Amino acid sequence: MKASIIPVTPYQQNCSLIWCENTMKGAVIDPGGDLDRVLDEAEKNGVTIENIFMTHSHLDHAGGTAELQKKLGITIEGPHKDDAWLIAKLPDECAKHGFPAAETFTPDRWLNNGDQVSVGDLTLDVYHCPGHTPGHVVFHDPQSNIAFVGDVLFKGSIGRTDFERGNHADLISAIRDRLWPLGDEVTFVSGHGDLSTFGEERRSNPYVGDGV
Ligand SMILES: [Zn+2]
Ligand SMILES: [Zn+2]
Repeated sequence: MKASIIPVTPYQQNCSLIWCENTMKGAVIDPGGDLDRVLDEAEKNGVTIENIFMTHSHLDHAGGTAELQKKLGITIEGPHKDDAWLIAKLPDECAKHGFPAAETFTPDRWLNNGDQVSVGDLTLDVYHCPGHTPGHVVFHDPQSNIAFVGDVLFKGSIGRTDFERGNHADLISAIRDRLWPLGDEVTFVSGHGDLSTFGEERRSNPYVGDGV
């Protein structure tokens, strides 16, 4: 798997373009906005975008989803259907936070824990990790051992749970029961900020490390 991380929107959300080097087919994870930069990155690398994979439906992750789908005629997979209420609120949320207008969308496929998504020869495993939002999912590529965790986990921190329908206990359980078992060696791309590994967070994360 090849990946290019493109911070988008005023919230510097880490939109990821991932692709399969055999087929040069790719997917965009969380196209929150600034689609020109995402499309430029795909063109520069010779990638044909075939899918959108969604971790969750906050505006900085989902604000560009409907537009990208229309522009390219591609499918949207994810998040889990427990985020449907958030997708319905997207236009209001964008107006409220001064984001460019966004449309709602209906994923072609809602994802459940244990599902897989594919693009080219890549297959990523899906983990439902509620808490930051109820329908948040994480994508893990076992081949490269990279996970795209959205706003579940950050280098040195965890996702906020003070938003509507957030749940701190759910978030901690999801990280400990669904992410840690993937192994210390997993490198993860968060929705914001730097990369880290699960092992490093188990050692040092003040919210969900093993010493907490
Ligand atoms: Zn979020
Ligand atoms: Zn975010």
